[in-house]
Amino acid sequence: MFEKVLIANRGEIALRVIRACREMGIATVAVHSTADSEAMHVRLADESVCLGPPSAAQSYLNIPAIIAACEITGAEAIHPGYGFLSENAKFADIIKEHGLTFIGPTADHIRMMGDKITAKQTVKELGIPTVPGSDGEVTDTDAPKLAGEIGYPVLIKATAGGGGRGMKVAKSAEELSFALSQARTEAKAAFGNDTVYMEKYLQKPRHIEIQILADSHGKVVHLGERDCSLQRRHQKVWEEAGSPALNAQERDEIGSIVTRALEKLGYLGAGTIEFLYEDGRFYFIEMNTRLQVEHPVSEAITGIDIVREQIRIAAGAAMDFTQKDIVFEGHAIECRINAENPFTFRPSPGTITQFHTPGGLGVRFDSAIYSGYRIPPFYDSLAGKLVVHAKNRNECLLRLRRALNELVVDGIETTIPLFQKLVREPDIIDGDYSIHWLEKYLANLGPQS
Ligand code: ADP
Repeated sequence: MFEKVLIANRGEIALRVIRACREMGIATVAVHSTADSEAMHVRLADESVCLGPPSAAQSYLNIPAIIAACEITGAEAIHPGYGFLSENAKFADIIKEHGLTFIGPTADHIRMMGDKITAKQTVKELGIPTVPGSDGEVTDTDAPKLAGEIGYPVLIKATAGGGGRGMKVAKSAEELSFALSQARTEAKAAFGNDTVYMEKYLQKPRHIEIQILADSHGKVVHLGERDCSLQRRHQKVWEEAGSPALNAQERDEIGSIVTRALEKLGYLGAGTIEFLYEDGRFYFIEMNTRLQVEHPVSEAITGIDIVREQIRIAAGAAMDFTQKDIVFEGHAIECRINAENPFTFRPSPGTITQFHTPGGLGVRFDSAIYSGYRIPPFYDSLAGKLVVHAKNRNECLLRLRRALNELVVDGIETTIPLFQKLVREPDIIDGDYSIHWLEKYLANLGPQS
């Protein structure tokens, strides 16, 4: 096992990894920008190294500085968390070239899944169901014929896509060329690559994703699904395990399709296969080759520490459980507590004057904030994740209401008031929502503040 791990990240996820390392007896190195010298991950790690100025490009994305920090401190492995360098194949390559270990999949698999066209073709060949669409890049000349074959509405997507950018819907032939040029312009600006492809636009799907773990001894298991349909601008807001829409048989079926596929691929580490789900059918949208923000809901229902497994797998250890040992117990919900206006989602950085976390049975709050902490304006606005677990979905909702009432984050605006409304909405209580539900709900609420 590793003796010392460097965490190339900040915020709650850096704490999450530090905690796993502590429990495994592994020493930790935090890295930070000058804006984060007072941050909790710096305080909690055994050692810390300043990487550079506040801008992410000069600090958390600064590969030479991160490698130098490993060399100075003697860390043997790097956990990238999520975001920042977590899906950067070049980073994984460089880490290897320096004789260090990247806690994640191989650079080749990151590269393969990072390009959406390649990813889609690869998983299709491995037997995973995909959304009908262009088999590869779509040109402006081919587009009209193809869209006619697929049937409107169609979705134009950037092959380098991420965060919902470079994605445009065309409802009819008249809208097609505008959607194509808009998607290209957005993709070029965001990713420096204007290659796009086309998919059938599903009208009322749910977003359901499968968490997997694969070790270097050929074993692949799945930890069931997460339903992340409640989204705003393609950003997840609330996640559940399991999905209110799936039964045990459907879970087993999609779980085994995915584990078989990743076994064939020879995948290593933690990963998530994201699907849209409509009328009982799954359609692959992308694979994330990293730990995800919403991983705690899967941990809650399986009792498996995903970060611990990531570290063990990277060190070459075999998972000491099989698919049969994984039992799904109860229901879990995560709410993303963002430092944002709850209805407009405008970022609200600033100083936290009062902070109180909820507690009690089945309540987990993963966060890096504290009373008196100033949330810097330079990074994403996730301030904490409230995760509740209970015997069933109804009890989980009641526990979530109770926990939301206890949670105090004063001094900044947060998304807490939105969740307080959501837990009382009949559609949410019934689990009856698609990926468009939240956007419509927010639009109907109108301007609130
Ligand atoms: P990104 O990497 O930019 O987040 P994804 O492919 O994961 O892109 O898609 C993000 C979101 O866009 C999905 O969660 C879903 O809400 C929507 N979406 C993607 N593909 C389709 C589709 N074919 N039909 C309808 N909605 C889609």
